[in-house]
Amino acid sequence: MPGNFTFRRRSGNKIAKIKENEKPVISPPSNFEHTVHVGFDPHTGEFTGMPESWAKLLQNSNISKSEQKKNPQAVLDVLNYYDNSTKEKKESKYMHIKQSSSSSSSSSVRPSLSDKTGASLVMSTKIESSAPTTPEEEEELPPPPIATRPDKTKSIYTKPIEPDEKANGATPGQKEKPKKKKMTDEEILEKLRTIVTIGDPNRKYTKMEKIGQGASGTVFIAIEIATGREVAIKTMNLSQQPKKELIINEILVMRENQNANIVNYLDSYLVGEELWVVMEYLAGGSLTDVVTETCMDEGQIAAVGRECLQALEFLHENQVIHRDIKSDNILLGMDGSVKLTDFGFCAQLSPEQSKRSTMVGTPYWMAPEVVTRKQYGPKVDIWSLGIMAIEMIEGEPPYLNENPLRALYLIATNGKPEIKEKDKLSPVFQDFLDKCLEVDVDKRASASDLLKHPFLRLAKPLATMETHNSLIQLCRKATIWSW
Ligand code: ATP
Repeated sequence: MPGNFTFRRRSGNKIAKIKENEKPVISPPSNFEHTVHVGFDPHTGEFTGMPESWAKLLQNSNISKSEQKKNPQAVLDVLNYYDNSTKEKKESKYMHIKQSSSSSSSSSVRPSLSDKTGASLVMSTKIESSAPTTPEEEEELPPPPIATRPDKTKSIYTKPIEPDEKANGATPGQKEKPKKKKMTDEEILEKLRTIVTIGDPNRKYTKMEKIGQGASGTVFIAIEIATGREVAIKTMNLSQQPKKELIINEILVMRENQNANIVNYLDSYLVGEELWVVMEYLAGGSLTDVVTETCMDEGQIAAVGRECLQALEFLHENQVIHRDIKSDNILLGMDGSVKLTDFGFCAQLSPEQSKRSTMVGTPYWMAPEVVTRKQYGPKVDIWSLGIMAIEMIEGEPPYLNENPLRALYLIATNGKPEIKEKDKLSPVFQDFLDKCLEVDVDKRASASDLLKHPFLRLAKPLATMETHNSLIQLCRKATIWSW
């Protein structure tokens, strides 16, 4: 008997049903939802009633016929997810699409990705020179290297295909909460005015040097005049932000959740059309720089793991899920501090909404319950931490060479990924990884459980972490040499 699968293809809030085998009409972005019935015939190994866009994605995904036959549900789950995410990426602040004729557009040491349109997704973290360098500036040490990663390691945010309210176990008879209305630009500005400090930040901070470029804004280093301390300031042009709500989310969560293992929010300002977010400055670059340039030993991995778990325990106790744990979002201080950043994707849970279903994160780091579209909670961060531990061992997450769609299929189907030369790791480290990368969420350890794990006893002390500093130095040298 052919299997039947029903999907909602989100594009708004009305429901338009598409009959089986009827070609779905995909209209320009408007407010309605399609329900798609897709069948799978196990004898022929063919899907029936599949929307054209999905069929194209599948064709290019490298998911073999036998894999499709083995787990058709996973294929449809990831197609449904990926179709939504690719639709959103063009308007997302997290992804920039640029036509590229050669691979030289990205200096990535990792493979680059061409999407189905042939457009190459170009790294937005690459530093652009903001001003001509003066001879004095040239003599200075270059800033810490910025990791070059393919765009497929960029974060993705898609709206929930089913409203999050359903994730709380609302039964069909229960009254559904009305969908949250999208805030207008004026409402966003009004809200921001209640958050930011009034005044001119140029009077409080000295002129700044650009240190990084994100999709949503530019990051500068500055000096706080009163204290002389270094700070990082992210400036975002509000008129260029398609998802302004996420910025408010980011500021509020950072402001409310101050912790030694989190890149702490210090202040924010509205400067003309720009929002300036002042935060702690971490001079050591991101953990991605370290994992891609050096080999970390277990003592270093345990130390970084412990610091990240402290941040996660704190966030989870405060009902916050980060949802985008990966080495790119861990910044390092020259004193050995390890801090979590990038709260644009986090979810604040509440007694009324203790689970989420929105597809958020970066495909390769996503937990199986996110990929297979189940309700999820804080333990998605623990899975991603396990994947980040693999980055620290192997330099990259599993399946990075795969088409992202196939990677999602493999996460959904294989569950715990294989670790190359796992037997070379100490038994306690292997056990730690197993506890993070447990598919069964109830069996997966929590941040508090893992903080008691014997693997963390191998951690090299952070205070005497020359190893850590030397990693950063090594990393700098490697970058200088490669120039
Ligand atoms: P977005 O959040 O807009 O998608 P992103 O996550 O790629 O962007 P940003 O948070 O904008 O990146 O940061 C850009 C770069 O600036 C980072 O890669 C990092 O190197 C640097 N950076 C960001 N915050 C700090 C900080 N607090 N201290 C030092 N460097 C920072």
